[in-house]
Amino acid sequence: MEPFAYTKVRDVRAAVAAGRRGGRFIAGGTTLVDLMRETVERPGTLVDIGALPLTGISPTPGGGVRIGALVRMADAAADPRVRSAFPVVSQALELSASPQLRNMATIGGNIMQRTRCPYFRDVTARCNKRAPGSGCAALDGYNRSHAILGGSEACVATHPSDVAVAFAALEATVHLQGPDGDRSVSFADFLLRPGSTPDREQALRPGELITAVELPALPGPSRSGYLKVRDRQSYEFALTSAAVALSIRGGVIRAAKVAAGGVGTVPWKLPAVEQHLLGKRPSDSLWAEAAQRAADGARPLRHNGFKVELLKRTVERQLRVVGGTR
Ligand code: SF4
Repeated sequence: MEPFAYTKVRDVRAAVAAGRRGGRFIAGGTTLVDLMRETVERPGTLVDIGALPLTGISPTPGGGVRIGALVRMADAAADPRVRSAFPVVSQALELSASPQLRNMATIGGNIMQRTRCPYFRDVTARCNKRAPGSGCAALDGYNRSHAILGGSEACVATHPSDVAVAFAALEATVHLQGPDGDRSVSFADFLLRPGSTPDREQALRPGELITAVELPALPGPSRSGYLKVRDRQSYEFALTSAAVALSIRGGVIRAAKVAAGGVGTVPWKLPAVEQHLLGKRPSDSLWAEAAQRAADGARPLRHNGFKVELLKRTVERQLRVVGGTR
C-alpha cells in the first residue's frame, strides 16, 4: 500500500470541500481498501465520511423511499418500508457479498464499487480503466465474465453491483451535493458506459458526494424480485441477473420495470422487454416472448457467448416468478 493522508469530516460541506481538493471519499471501505492494498488505487488523501448524517431511510411524498448514502447494505435490506414496497431491492442486497461485508458496506459505496475484471486488479496487466491508454487485456484474454452489452473497443468490464440493477429497473434517482449545490441525476445517467474513457465511471463533478438514492413509487399494487445466476450460490458475482417489478391490475400488466445484471458495462435496462409486456395478460408464453428481447444488441466475446441464452432464461424465469404463473 502506498502512503496516504487521512482526514475525517463531520459535515457534508467539509466533505465536499475536501473532495474538491482531490480527496477520495471512504465510508465502509470494503472495496477501496482492498484496491489500495493491491496498489490498483493510490489516493493521496482519504476523506472519511463515515460520520456524516446520511444514514436515514424515509418515505417520500410521492410514495417512494429515500435511502441515505451511508445506510449500510444490511440495514437497507432489512428496512420494513424497503422490504414491503421494493422486495427487489432487499433481495438484490441480500444476494450480494457476505453478511460481514453487508454490515460494513454502504449504499453509496455499493453503486460506486469498481469492476471485478481480473485484469483491472492485476497491476501487471494492460487495462484502460486502471491505466488509460494501456490497452485492454480482456479483449484478447479470458473474457468469460465480461460484458455482452455496452462494451467498447476500450473496455468490456461488467458493473458488479446487484442493487444497482434493481435501482436501474426501478428508475431510481441519485441525489448529489457538490461545490455548486445540490442536484439530482437519474440512475440511468449516473453510471457511464466505457466508450473511449473507461476510467470515468460515474457522472460526478469534482467534489460531488452522493447523499441519497431515491426509489419512486411503482404505479398501483406491485410485485418485484431479483434473481441472480452465478457459479456458486454464495459470495459470488452474477453471471446474469434479473430485476423485475410488475404492476398487474384487472388481470392486465399496467407497469413493467426490468433490468439485467452481469451482462452489461452498466446495469442494463430492458425497455424492449418492458414494452412487450404492457397491456397484456400474464402467461407463460408472454414471459417467453418478452424474454427473447432481453439480449437485443448483444455482442458476445470469445468466452462468454453462453450469456446470451442464459440472460434470456434468467429474465423469463424471473418474469414468471414475479408475474405469478410459475
Ligand atoms: Fe481493464 Fe476494462 Fe479491459 Fe478489464 S475489460 S482489462 S477493466 S479495460
